[in-house]
Amino acid sequence: MDSSVSVLKQWVAESDNIVFFGGAGVSTEPGIPDFRSADGLYNQKYKYPPEEIISHSFFERNPEEFYRFYRDKLIPPADVKPNRCHLRLSELEREGKLRAVITQNIDGLHQAAGSERVIELHGSIHRCYCAKCRREYDESAVNDAQGVPRCGCGGVIRPDVVLYEEGLREDDLTDAVNYIREADVLIVGGTSLNVYPAAGLIRYFRGKHLALINMSPTPYDNMAELVIREKIGQVFARI
Ligand code: ZN
Repeated sequence: MDSSVSVLKQWVAESDNIVFFGGAGVSTEPGIPDFRSADGLYNQKYKYPPEEIISHSFFERNPEEFYRFYRDKLIPPADVKPNRCHLRLSELEREGKLRAVITQNIDGLHQAAGSERVIELHGSIHRCYCAKCRREYDESAVNDAQGVPRCGCGGVIRPDVVLYEEGLREDDLTDAVNYIREADVLIVGGTSLNVYPAAGLIRYFRGKHLALINMSPTPYDNMAELVIREKIGQVFARI
């Protein structure tokens, strides 16, 4: 076994206060397009840049085009399953070792793998609500509708995801900060740590060991005791 992975394995074995912070790379392995990265779905041709389409002002201005893109690109195929990373994290929680998963992903795969304490910083495609009266809806209200889905009150039903120009929820941020601040071991994976303010969260860590698992360098590599450049699913299969 690669020595850095065995070090991580040792940390995991010794800790009962691990927190995992993950990004798009956690999900791209089972074939989910990346919500906010240039090498994911954004290379594909669309009339507007994807960053613009999934922004608050675009959603208000042009919900038809937003939903065309959303249904086409952001809803994962029904047969997508959690990978080794999701499954191992869920096991670690059941074993009493992992306190929380903090994720930038909106696909709900951590919950599908059985994780219970999941902080979804960018929301979830599995929850929807009326932008006007706040009534909650099942995801089918958006996914199975034609055109712009409407509430009985006349408002537009939208997914509970954080669009560009929208702030993260205070409660989620507070929870994330608290878990990270209290953790002994922080494992950060599948994120280039370029999305703010989420990426700045790891600055709150003051525990024993910080590991970064990512294929490309991140601005925080020099803060980490361990940097592992491997596919995250392969690392979690071995710890
Ligand atoms: Zn409504």
